[in-house]
Amino acid sequence: MNLPPQIRVLERGWLSSNNILIDNGDACALVDSGYHAHAAQTLSLLQHALAGKPLTWLINTHCHSDHMGGNAAVQRAYACRTSIPVGEAPAIAAWDDATLMLRYTGQSAERFGYDDTIAAGDRLQLGGLEWQALAAPGHDRHALMFYAPAARILISGDALWENGFGLIFQELFGQAGGFADTRATLETISRLDIATAIPGHGAPFGDVERSLATAFQRLDAYERDPAKLARHALKVMLSFSLMILGRMELAGLPQFLVDRPIYGDVNRRFLRLPEAELCAYLVKDLERAGALKLEDGWLRAT
Ligand SMILES: [Zn+2]
Repeated sequence: MNLPPQIRVLERGWLSSNNILIDNGDACALVDSGYHAHAAQTLSLLQHALAGKPLTWLINTHCHSDHMGGNAAVQRAYACRTSIPVGEAPAIAAWDDATLMLRYTGQSAERFGYDDTIAAGDRLQLGGLEWQALAAPGHDRHALMFYAPAARILISGDALWENGFGLIFQELFGQAGGFADTRATLETISRLDIATAIPGHGAPFGDVERSLATAFQRLDAYERDPAKLARHALKVMLSFSLMILGRMELAGLPQFLVDRPIYGDVNRRFLRLPEAELCAYLVKDLERAGALKLEDGWLRAT
């Protein structure tokens, strides 16, 4: 993908978000730090990519565990200034586990502090380019995207991937507005002149029009049938947990779901399946999608 040499994307998997390293000449800035269980890997990738330059600024697109989970480790290693979206600040300052959805989803992150906040409309100087911070509500109400008009680059976070976008949590929690927010964010993106989008997960991509068409189609389908979003969400959550754990005993799955309230809440709200049926559905569908393997009573991440 045609990115200027001062922008490097350390492409990660699904558990850790991508890390975007921007060279400001005498120092570098980093957008998003990955999942905390991968912090050692993040640090070693960073150290290699920095090649001796200092990292002086850490920025988050939003504060989900797979984007900010490595913040504390990065701060320890580099003593960098940390800027987060202004809407995320209260939850981060208080380390409000419920708002951060950590225990709720069975995810974790190491507590960190921040130095300042970024609001939609702010302008940032990174890599010799001016970037506009744009509101990107939908997947996360407070998320920001960063757009550099001169280079026609959009750092989209989880608002737009090559083939989709992040879960619309607001709707999963029974709060209206998430679909409309997602639509508004996709429309914001469609008004930008973009040569390259750098997503929070997956490789940078150039055919933004095609990705937007896919995203609008998916959003339409969710709006018609929100249970589709609910089923997708529970499968994503479970395969995320399996990736963290590596494997899980099938017999322990019902209790695993009970211990992470998102499963019961979303099931009650949208699916209303008896517990055993929910377990069977999730396992069968993830197996069919190739996201897990069932062997000798164990679920294994593939
Ligand atoms: Zn996210």
